[in-house]
Amino acid sequence: MKNKEIKILLAAPRGFCAGVERAIEIVKKSIIKYGAPVYVRHEIVHNKHVVDNLKKIGAIFVEELTEIQDKTRPVIFSAHGVPKSVPIEANDYKIEYIDATCPLVSKVHRETENLHKAGYHIVLIGHLNHPEVIGTMGQLPIGSIDLIENEKDVENYVLEDRNKIAYVTQTTLSVDDTKNIIALLRKKYPKIKEPFKEDICYATTNRQLAVKNIASDCDMFFVLGSLNSSNSLRLVEVAQQSGCSDSMLIHSESEVPFDKIQNCKIIGISSGASAPQALVDNFINKIKTKFNVKIDEIEIVKENIVFKVPAKLN
Ligand code: SF4
Repeated sequence: MKNKEIKILLAAPRGFCAGVERAIEIVKKSIIKYGAPVYVRHEIVHNKHVVDNLKKIGAIFVEELTEIQDKTRPVIFSAHGVPKSVPIEANDYKIEYIDATCPLVSKVHRETENLHKAGYHIVLIGHLNHPEVIGTMGQLPIGSIDLIENEKDVENYVLEDRNKIAYVTQTTLSVDDTKNIIALLRKKYPKIKEPFKEDICYATTNRQLAVKNIASDCDMFFVLGSLNSSNSLRLVEVAQQSGCSDSMLIHSESEVPFDKIQNCKIIGISSGASAPQALVDNFINKIKTKFNVKIDEIEIVKENIVFKVPAKLN
């Protein structure tokens, strides 16, 4: 018999963003238009459930175009964006490609190119080896853009021409950590040129604010998402930094830590921008099998952004 009551504070907004919705739609519509299989370069978005579901309807995931066995089939570039060399390579192979890069990542690409044309040396704040970082750095010739990951990197950074420097950022960073890095860069390079409009995207910002808003009221905090999802990992850090030290990433409902939840009165739940709502529902349903659950959704802002799929898929 269930006799313990658990209150769940559900952060909103959470889960899919407009860029992820668009990227998944592009894969589905491509399969309808071209038939199966279609290739996808890299996980379309960083979530295993999404990838597995798309595999079932005919998507084949590869890391590089060289792995594509049937080059008469189209290939889709993931939401994270690709270096300039990738579409060139696709053209060389005569592979038709559809670009599912999130428009907000493409905005950073264009910004980077324009700054380079205007003679700026560029610093990219981001995480080493993340595909978005590889894509953004790959918009420019080697040596014209440097990666800064943290405050220590700023301290160690050396640039001779201190007047022509600009920064851009990865879209899914921690808003607060990035502010600190930017403050240090400004101190070291007072003339550093800033992006016209913030590069960290609306979805990342809103999801972090929603978690920040409730984390200190929670005994534990769970973020549904995959281990390679940058924005999901940042949400766990935000929950920890905002007063809920016992915060963790959860891949699926098979990982519910009942023994720990047993000791909680209030738990918080959110999900990364690439995590389907079904994961949150399944997680809550699993908790309901052992506890009486009361859910309170705390929404800090309504999102109504939609990105169109490329016209050729309609
Ligand atoms: S998290 Fe932001 S940048 Fe990434 S796909 Fe979503 S909207 Fe685009």
